[in-house]
Amino acid sequence: MAVRETGVSYYGLSHVEHAERDFQEMLDHNCTAVLLALSEFDIDFWFPNIKAVAARAKDMGLTVYLDTWGIGKWFGGEPPSLFLTNNPGNRQISATTGEPLAAACFHTTAFREYFFEICERLAAEVEADGFFWDEPHYALPKSYASITGGAGDDWTCRCGFCRRSFEAHYGYDMPKLLTPEVKRFRQDRALDILEAASRKIKKIRPSSKIICCVHATLGSYYVTENRGYDNWDKVARSDACDVFSTTILSYQLPRSFFRSITQRTVDVARRHGKCCQRWLMGYYQEPEDLGEIQQIARLYAEMGVESLFAWTYRGGHGTVLAAPRALGVWDAVGEAFGEVLER
Ligand SMILES: [Zn+2]
Repeated sequence: MAVRETGVSYYGLSHVEHAERDFQEMLDHNCTAVLLALSEFDIDFWFPNIKAVAARAKDMGLTVYLDTWGIGKWFGGEPPSLFLTNNPGNRQISATTGEPLAAACFHTTAFREYFFEICERLAAEVEADGFFWDEPHYALPKSYASITGGAGDDWTCRCGFCRRSFEAHYGYDMPKLLTPEVKRFRQDRALDILEAASRKIKKIRPSSKIICCVHATLGSYYVTENRGYDNWDKVARSDACDVFSTTILSYQLPRSFFRSITQRTVDVARRHGKCCQRWLMGYYQEPEDLGEIQQIARLYAEMGVESLFAWTYRGGHGTVLAAPRALGVWDAVGEAFGEVLER
């Protein structure tokens, strides 16, 4: 068993004395770390208490990571984006229809400045051990349905800013098709903002550990989602990644898929000398037999996963995305952590 870190995400953070009780419950559920899921609203409105809550978690012995949750709708997550509310422009544009989407174009100077300012403020003022890049992605395409593609021919971003910078690099107008050059351009730009942010964070807080968590998708010869972070080697090799992480999987998927995603995650991380992290689904869905959560955790541990997290605290209890037996799922996650954690 190689698991050295176990944790859950935590949101809705407001008052430190309430958070303290929740952190104790996490410790009782064999967590060594907490991921504070910070929406743009939280950062804008609750900043003093984010500092206090993070400090209390540290005092209680938890490792603390800051998740730039749903920011710009570039990162995964349910919260709305203040940037999109306050900026009529700087949106990702559909290549085929030219329509703006409800997602910030993260190449634009306006969004980059906004994001870097958030990262620098968090790095400077919040006592945390690191940052978590939470499922960064282009708005489209997503979910190619079959090995022949088909479902997702549209893509982003083909805004004026992206078109100008593509043309400056390649010398011709950005095609409306996902050519190899367009794919490479999207990947390079997608990593560039994370690398720049990671550098800025480490300049302020050199010990900061950066976890880069990408979608756990097939990424095979036939099927790729083209979300911009599909080339795992490119992501893991990057300075934007100290820990290579892949997201949760639906319990409805075959266990062979859990095994292959985890093997690829561990292999890619090792190839680039990075730590590896896997996630358990601890909200929304649950296996029929909750004991399976423990079996999956054991499988991950046996395969060499070093950091194991679950989304989210208390199985999402009280949210529309709660697992049907949310508190039972939370207890099962706690038991699984207790078994695999190397203390
Ligand atoms: Zn763009």
